[in-house]
Amino acid sequence: MCRVTDPKTGKEQSACVSCKTACFDIDAEQTYWSELRKPGRRLVQYGYLGMVIAFYLYYFLYTGNWDYYFTGAWTREADQVTKAFDPGFYVYGQVIPIPKFAAVYITFGVLIAITFTIGVVLEKGCRRLVRRYGRPILAEQAQHLAFTIFTLASFWIFFSYGARPSLNRLPTYPLLAFNALIVLVGSVWFYRTIRWSREDYEREQMAATLRRQLHKLDLDPALLEGRSLEELTPNELCTLVKVMQGFSQRLRLQTYMGVVVDLLKQKTINPTSSFEFCRNLRQELQLKDMDHFTALEAIASTHPDLLATTLSRANAYEDLTTLATTLVKPLKSRPRKA
Ligand code: SF4
Repeated sequence: MCRVTDPKTGKEQSACVSCKTACFDIDAEQTYWSELRKPGRRLVQYGYLGMVIAFYLYYFLYTGNWDYYFTGAWTREADQVTKAFDPGFYVYGQVIPIPKFAAVYITFGVLIAITFTIGVVLEKGCRRLVRRYGRPILAEQAQHLAFTIFTLASFWIFFSYGARPSLNRLPTYPLLAFNALIVLVGSVWFYRTIRWSREDYEREQMAATLRRQLHKLDLDPALLEGRSLEELTPNELCTLVKVMQGFSQRLRLQTYMGVVVDLLKQKTINPTSSFEFCRNLRQELQLKDMDHFTALEAIASTHPDLLATTLSRANAYEDLTTLATTLVKPLKSRPRKA
């Protein structure tokens, strides 16, 4: 996150003022999931592949062959600026009299439009295909599948052409090793990413926070069967939490509050999004929805700065209004003490 150096200690410290709700610099994956369905997100992701293709393809369209690019002749071409009005396309021996400066934009525009259309069709195809096999998926997950395929295509196309004029001068085996590395890295990333979902991400985040809270408890080692908390998977942690149902309500609420504080500190959640984000954990700990507001009230008195800074400045008014509504409603409905 944004940092400054403390002039007294010379150490780095956070300078985050929470200017964004989901900040890429703090948690890139959270930003990915929260902005996935935003308008324009598809154009960026699908259009990027079109840009990568157009960037390299134009070398071919401009000269009619790939030698111009792969020999590196374009780096030595003189008077490029004065040729901006020369014909911009030369395809299979035919000169197309569109000036170069316009031909570049046309190439990019057409390729971006094509990849955008393919992306949208692919997304719909993913939903239909998966539905046909009896496992309907959310629009968000279909978009993630298509994004993953496009990202892999962009990565491989980029490294198939990027820096090739220099790379192709390498001896055969180092060149083959480099190519194999690109294929391997892309394949491993694809395998891990295509199966991932927002729920997986949220479960991992919750598990990491829960682990920290469980460390603070004096857990019976027999419960862990000789393993450490770090070795437990998110599902095993949930099972462990279920075992905690035998623990006192106070201890479960305390653990829950610790998790919420941790998530607020990491800016994984803000006060308004915390209610939904922690729903599963409340169920695991057998806590009621009302307990969430009890936890927020306690956090407001013990960590007032935390609630204040986690409210996004950009959406401060909206966040405060929503928070006030969500806090006041359940408080009003509480039974009065005799
Ligand atoms: S939320 Fe704003 S201030 Fe905080 S790390 Fe991100 S960009 Fe920096």
